Amino acid sequence: MVRFPGRSLQFILILSFRFASMGWTKRMVLAAVLMLSSPIINMTIVEDASAQVISGYHDSFEMAALLSDAASSHPSIAWYSTAQELLGTRDIPGGRVIPILFVGNRTDERPWVMLIGSHHGDEPDSAEAVLSFALHLLDSYDAGDPMALRIVTSINIAILPVVNPYGLDMGTRVDENGDDPNRDYPFQPSSISSVSDGIPLTTAGAFTVHSLAAMYPFSIALSFHTGSQGIFYTWGAPGVGTETPDDICFSDVGRVLSASSGVHMIHGPANDFTYVSELEGAFDDHLYGSTFLPNMLYSMDMQLPWSTFTATVELHNNKGRDPPVLGNLDHLWDPSTDDGGALGRGARICYAACELASPWMEVETDLSGSILYLNGTVTGAASVPPVELTWDGTPVDPEIRWTSADLLPEMDFSISIDTSTMGEGNCNDHEIILEVWPDEGWNDLHDGAFPSIAPQSVLANSRSALMFRTGTGQTMTQQPGQVEHNASFEVRLYDEYVGAGDTGQVLIDIDLNGENVSGVSISTVMGVWSSSVNYTIEEVEKLGGVLSFPTIMSEGAAKLIVDLQLENGVISWEGNVTIVPGVRILRNTLVVNRDDVLRVLVGVDGAQRTVPVIWGISRTQDAPWDGAGWSGGGYPWIVGPDVIISRGNGVSVLEVDLSDYGGAAYLRVCTYPGVSEDSIELHLEGEIELSRIPVFVEGDTLEFGPCLVMAFYDGPEILTPVFDRIEYTITLTAPDGTWTVIPLEWKSAEGMTVEERERLYELIVEEGLNIDEPPGAFFGSIGKPDDPGEYRITADVSGSFLYGLGKEVDMEITDGKGSFEVSQGSDKGPEEHHSFPWKILLFVLVMAVIILLISYLSYRANGRKFQQEKGRAGRPETPGRSRENVERGTSGGTGRDESSLPRRAPPPP
Ligand SMILES: [Zn+2]
Repeated sequence: MVRFPGRSLQFILILSFRFASMGWTKRMVLAAVLMLSSPIINMTIVEDASAQVISGYHDSFEMAALLSDAASSHPSIAWYSTAQELLGTRDIPGGRVIPILFVGNRTDERPWVMLIGSHHGDEPDSAEAVLSFALHLLDSYDAGDPMALRIVTSINIAILPVVNPYGLDMGTRVDENGDDPNRDYPFQPSSISSVSDGIPLTTAGAFTVHSLAAMYPFSIALSFHTGSQGIFYTWGAPGVGTETPDDICFSDVGRVLSASSGVHMIHGPANDFTYVSELEGAFDDHLYGSTFLPNMLYSMDMQLPWSTFTATVELHNNKGRDPPVLGNLDHLWDPSTDDGGALGRGARICYAACELASPWMEVETDLSGSILYLNGTVTGAASVPPVELTWDGTPVDPEIRWTSADLLPEMDFSISIDTSTMGEGNCNDHEIILEVWPDEGWNDLHDGAFPSIAPQSVLANSRSALMFRTGTGQTMTQQPGQVEHNASFEVRLYDEYVGAGDTGQVLIDIDLNGENVSGVSISTVMGVWSSSVNYTIEEVEKLGGVLSFPTIMSEGAAKLIVDLQLENGVISWEGNVTIVPGVRILRNTLVVNRDDVLRVLVGVDGAQRTVPVIWGISRTQDAPWDGAGWSGGGYPWIVGPDVIISRGNGVSVLEVDLSDYGGAAYLRVCTYPGVSEDSIELHLEGEIELSRIPVFVEGDTLEFGPCLVMAFYDGPEILTPVFDRIEYTITLTAPDGTWTVIPLEWKSAEGMTVEERERLYELIVEEGLNIDEPPGAFFGSIGKPDDPGEYRITADVSGSFLYGLGKEVDMEITDGKGSFEVSQGSDKGPEEHHSFPWKILLFVLVMAVIILLISYLSYRANGRKFQQEKGRAGRPETPGRSRENVERGTSGGTGRDESSLPRRAPPPP
């Protein structure tokens, strides 16, 4: 395997090898002696080294120590510094520093990548993701991993896991002065009101990133966050339009980074996503736009010399610390079952960014019969690149097969040349030159860009200068022609139309006829685009010949090629398949009220133009499309642009007015009926009720729960998918009318103690609920109130079915009222909240009798005095502000103590 680094104007590699004939009928193998102009040769593949990487949470001091140690153990490829030492960043309280690990040789001959974590301190997973990538990269380098070796020797990386160390250590979004570092960049002057003194770059974090970006020409800079999920690139600031002059490049890179995450991540310009737009003074636009939009800058001395591809990477919807969500790197390259949480996603995205910064090509040659194969890999290209091949200076149009890996921007190719057609004679010298141009479209002018100028970024412009060239000067012996094959096979394509992002299916029937077949590969090919899948012959048998194949992510007519791999070559079948834009519903929904407008995120893959999404509501999930609508539904259906228009691989919000519908139904979407459809179940006009709220007195604590939320439509049912997004609070009203709001917490059934689970089943039995396997319930607790007497409980539940879009829907609930009694000093276990306070009643009656008796006696002694006292005692009670609030609180939350009920606002990056 030959590797050579990929950044300079032009690479010319001369491979020379001698080839020895092994006989006419035997398969020939080239014994190649490779002599390179480039210093790197690596012929071993070493297993993944991820097990050594530390996972878990670290404070800023620990992070600095880990990075410093990593640099000292890799003196030839890594260097540690701090922003305070290197850039003169101001001091941060507690002696905190902003650590920087440089990997590479820190020369401008290589592309630069910047990876930033924790602009926001309450998003610690962003810091850990960047840190763990750094450690994983160095460990993998130590283990001889080819990709790590390639990255470390071809690019420079500035790694800054924590640019807001004070915030990280304190768990706050802002820094020690209460300023948000990601609103402190000098692009878009209107932003500046949000930071100290109205002057940008006063936070240590923004100052550091800005100063570093002024020092090195970064191709790619990623800032990691949490709080939503997606990859958002410039533009994000208001008033600058949606698409940048680099949008062709940026959307390609966004797509590749999203694919490498291993999970579904929406991607696009931040302005396309309402809930992350309006990012005034954010990192992204400043590092990209300050070179050519200086009028947007706070001051000209804050202009940067280069334009960088920047993106905000939002790893997941949570904030704060949660180890299972943080994850680990155990399954870094196999995320299909366990994507590794924030660490796995983050590390894969970092690797993809490093590859994109520096495209690369590797080539091996192999002669089989008369067929010469050039097998290789192109990494770091966002799409299949154009290839040109010359044979002794004459252009050749060879057969090229591309296969792409799922996760990283890596594509394998195989070029076959029939040497028997390439000229006469034995032992002739031939020169083969292979040229590849990755992402040559990135420099095209982009119509919708603001402003209307050529691409500006270092990244887009890096491609125009890149060319790969490999040549072979070889001595070659002509081989005999085609080998006869005995095996044969038939292929049946199930559907001529397949949605982009979906999988198609073929039925393959093989007649081996005595030949050995090793496997089957299926490729869809459209121009230079392709995708492939391989099956072993055992898998083919197991699947009964029904094989799925992935489509390419672009609409259009594609060739479908099925290859039967034989011991002595390949036989192929070719057919046609039409790829149509694929469609997906990205957000689930709860029961919704009939009067609501339902908003559902719909994603479209592979559209090459504006695509209307057809939607309809049907009663059954598998109602067939009859040409006019989904039949069997009995509902109206609508087709058209008044509903939704999606452009490209994008996401749009589908709005459905539900006032005409009722009952349980399926919302279905497609771009082409019957081809690429998706559906979700809707429960309209459902009612939500709460279970009784059990109350237990445990020592000095009142414990509430288990409490259940039930949705009634076809029957009682638990809403499983979105419990973690329901806010369930109870209001406890004391005998004196004061009240407290107690938020309840969702606990999964697995997370409960044995006792809690027993209580849950008890409740289900007592309530007569038809629930076999409750996924969990809500619990809460509060210190036991001091005043004895009867307490009243009211409950309030709200939920948002479009978390991330900032849309809250209050569900229709007001049940679960009740009361319970606290007797002085009681700690004797469970007390039902419905129990009538007999003891207090008895106590009050006895006291009343005694008072009456004393009063009577006292009256007889002094009548006038009693009259005065009675008058005072009978004064009307102060009208309860608190009581009124409690009443309102049960019916939708307007009167609740809002400060104790934090709403989950959509978190901006
Ligand atoms: Zn953030």
